[in-house]
Amino acid sequence: MAKIHNLGFPRIGKKRELKFAVEAYWAGSISQQELIEIGRKIRAENWALQANGGIDLVPVGDFAWYDHVLTTTLLLGAVPLRHKSPDAEPDLDTLFRIGRGRAPTGCACAASEMTKWFNSNYHYIVPELEQTQSFKLAWHELFEQVTEAQSLGYKAKPVLVGPVTYLHLSKCAGEAFDKLDLLDRILPIYQQVLVKFAEQGVEWVQIDEPILSLELEEDYRDALRTSFSALNGQGVKLLLATYFDSVNDYLSDIAAYPVQGVHFDCVAGAHDVAALHTLLAKDQVLSLGVVNGRNVWRTDLACVFEKIEEVAKLRGDNLWLAPSCSLLHTPVDLDQEAELDPELRSWLAFAKQKGEELQLLKLALASGDTHAILEYSLPVKARATSPRVNNALVHNRVAALTVKDGQRQSAFTQRSKVQAQALALPLLPTTTIGSFPQTQSIRNARRDFKAGEISSVDYNVQMQAEIRYAVEEQEALDLDVLVHGEAERNDMVEYFGELLNGFAFTQFGWVQSYGSRCVKPPVIWGDISREQAMTVTWTTYAQAQTSKKVKGMLTGPVTLLFWSFIRDDLDRPTIANQIALALRDEVVELQNAGIDIIQIDEPAFREGMPLKASQWQTYLEWAAYAFRVSASGVLDSTQIHTHMCYAEFNDIISAIADMDADVITIETSRSNMALLEAFEEFAYPNQIGPGVYDIHTPNVPEIKWMKALINKAAKKVPVERLWVNPDCGLKTRGWEETREALNNMVRAAKELRVEL
Ligand code: GLN
Ligand code: ZN
Repeated sequence: MAKIHNLGFPRIGKKRELKFAVEAYWAGSISQQELIEIGRKIRAENWALQANGGIDLVPVGDFAWYDHVLTTTLLLGAVPLRHKSPDAEPDLDTLFRIGRGRAPTGCACAASEMTKWFNSNYHYIVPELEQTQSFKLAWHELFEQVTEAQSLGYKAKPVLVGPVTYLHLSKCAGEAFDKLDLLDRILPIYQQVLVKFAEQGVEWVQIDEPILSLELEEDYRDALRTSFSALNGQGVKLLLATYFDSVNDYLSDIAAYPVQGVHFDCVAGAHDVAALHTLLAKDQVLSLGVVNGRNVWRTDLACVFEKIEEVAKLRGDNLWLAPSCSLLHTPVDLDQEAELDPELRSWLAFAKQKGEELQLLKLALASGDTHAILEYSLPVKARATSPRVNNALVHNRVAALTVKDGQRQSAFTQRSKVQAQALALPLLPTTTIGSFPQTQSIRNARRDFKAGEISSVDYNVQMQAEIRYAVEEQEALDLDVLVHGEAERNDMVEYFGELLNGFAFTQFGWVQSYGSRCVKPPVIWGDISREQAMTVTWTTYAQAQTSKKVKGMLTGPVTLLFWSFIRDDLDRPTIANQIALALRDEVVELQNAGIDIIQIDEPAFREGMPLKASQWQTYLEWAAYAFRVSASGVLDSTQIHTHMCYAEFNDIISAIADMDADVITIETSRSNMALLEAFEEFAYPNQIGPGVYDIHTPNVPEIKWMKALINKAAKKVPVERLWVNPDCGLKTRGWEETREALNNMVRAAKELRVEL
């Protein structure tokens, strides 16, 4: 009979207990012992939840205090030099210092970098390895956790980030070298770990090598072969886990690895189940990831059953079923969502429910009785045809989209002249990215309004006062293009999601983003349409307070898409176009209400990049098109801005040009304008506002420093096309530092106007 297992379970706890515990520990309000106790409780609950749901093998090692890649770094003793204490073994505070630069027992050096875990919204701590790096087994928690699970009566399956993926994800400390040179040094530690597991009576160990979903160079393929040969034969069985995409390019490699089982992602990857069955030897375990580990939708088990029934018969005990990847990326338990609309709820499944789905599937396969799974799958079928989900008007509008809908009336060279005349801005115009400090009084007002404690009239009056205040401040600072300040928004996705049809919000649908930070993405469950104007009243109110131009502020279609749980019954370009059309109407309405400059933020533009580089182009084309659809309903005289707040632009610079925003503002201050190189090399034709100061710290930037940065930028981009602005929005800053920083920024621009 098929076995069921999990590749990993959400570690944050049902009510984000881990987040609150580590934050309390950092703040000094609980002891390390108390923290450790809470961690133990969360693990025990997670295992119980999984085992009660019928999971045969529970994962161990999926729990992490901060990040599982960071835990691996400690396991391997690869603590960056600056965090190493000469005599002590790394401990929990070492871990926190690497992750966030600080820990209760003294603060040391800069945190390690973090970056996105493949194409998910989870961020890991990037290992920093020296060319002379040595490794040693230096972290014993994992073995204690195995004992913990076993003593609670569970069959524990430890999970490890595989050595080759680990090296792939790491960066060279200092000068570049071939990271694979370290493989020979790292493998003995993995061997020791496996031997220890064997001594603990562990049967199966899961080795995650998600890099198999990428397009790999030959040297990495060799490294994987070497690695599995070295890891085999240490007294445990090895389950290679691949996920996040298909591994079809490497099937023959995989078949030749000396492992006892392989897991394939059958949701994100187009895998032919029958072919996988013949690929692996009869005595190897074939693990099929048939339930989506990255989304929140109820699985159509009847449909899965049909796909795997034949293989299940042929493979018997050597077929395992699992979610497609670790459930790290899903919320914990749908049962907590008492306030969710019941019909919508019937369409969803969170981590706990996904385990139950596997159990139902397993029983059906064993008995041949499909009654239960057919019934379970009814809501999925109902969803497909539900009139709540499907809106013919929206479909027709998307179907009717043409190339022209993604084009402005005239090319940039022409319309920029019209805009220059209409807007009459000085050289190096100054502006901000949108939000101003979200003060306690703003947050209180929003909370009271949501709780029904203040009326909408009172709320509006207070928000208007906040807007007036922000406008007055900007006028006093003599900024050129003002914003309303976003006081009414607590989050740039949630604000629009709540106003658009087709989005829903959960109460506890949290997922870990990094460290103790969790996000609660909205759920896109139906066709998206705009019922009413979303920003026009606030923006025109701001415009009425000043004779300067106020820039309207919207979140773009690609960002609204990728910062949500995406519906699985419609392709992404179509959903993006639906959102784009709703935004397009908003943009036009803003224009018609007298707003001449409109910014459409796309900080998540890069997040949708597929794992396989050969698929990037297709993605970038539809993403840029969706942006243009949202932006192109306006007259030439209306100036469209966009904003992105991250680093690497090299891969996407041509797509950014393709978005054809009149102005793009980006984050560059921390890189000293180095990021502008991509724009320079590409000869990016439109206007750019490279951020001149970092908004992530309260430090007030000096005039001199910003002038130097702008001068540097002016060498890369013609000065007539440069704007002056901070790196990102100011909502996390206080007013005092904001005022001083912007004052310096405006003075820097003014001085340069004379000097240049
Ligand atoms: N307009 C948004 C703000 O200023 C942009 C935030 C972002 O790019 N993440 O807050
Ligand atoms: Zn930003």
